[in-house]
Amino acid sequence: MASWRLREPGCPACAARREAETNALAWFFLENYRERATLRALTNSCYCVRHLAALLARPEPKLSVTFEYLVREEIRLVRRFRDELRRKRWAPLRRSKAGERRLPRHARPADEPCRCPLCESGATAATVAIEEVLSLLEAEEGRAAYAASDGLCGPHAWVALRDAPAESAGWLAADVERRLQSIGAELSRYFAYQRGEDQAYVDSDAWVRATRLVWGESAGSERELSRDAATAPVTT
Ligand SMILES: [Zn+2]
Ligand SMILES: [Zn+2]
Repeated sequence: MASWRLREPGCPACAARREAETNALAWFFLENYRERATLRALTNSCYCVRHLAALLARPEPKLSVTFEYLVREEIRLVRRFRDELRRKRWAPLRRSKAGERRLPRHARPADEPCRCPLCESGATAATVAIEEVLSLLEAEEGRAAYAASDGLCGPHAWVALRDAPAESAGWLAADVERRLQSIGAELSRYFAYQRGEDQAYVDSDAWVRATRLVWGESAGSERELSRDAATAPVTT
């Protein structure tokens, strides 16, 4: 990574993830309507709540072609299920019980994990961005640029700490601790603020920055994702 990503605010891996998710969403609208391979892949995937909302935020009549295919596939699944159920009714010994019933492959029960293609694109991009950060941290100059930047969010820093060579891991762990200590000191001012002794704290967004260091950056908002998709050029 050119260190340009470090000059942007926020976690470089989260930024790469958002960018990839936005691009993947735009490609979905632009390219996927009649692409047989893509349609087949869609029967094997489901969208997470966040990306489903982003898809629905843009009413796109051309997705009718996609969903005509997906609905046909879903009908096939339900028919297969009904056949199976009927077969078992005539063979009581093999009857499948409620809760143990096998569903057809590609069925999407809500309580089983399912891969979201947009999340997957984002995760791949984040992994690449972390590798790029790690290669920057091999040089003194890169470390200085990293220390001056917002740095990785907590969860992405843990990935980097797991995957880094020992020397970089040591340096990065010290950097993470420095950031946590500094935010901890800011948060402790809250008590002085409660006692009316620290009015400056009222404008502080320390707790928002703390969530970033502990839980990571929130995903790109749905509005952001749909707006990016909406501004992508549409070709037919
Ligand atoms: Zn991150
Ligand atoms: Zn997703």
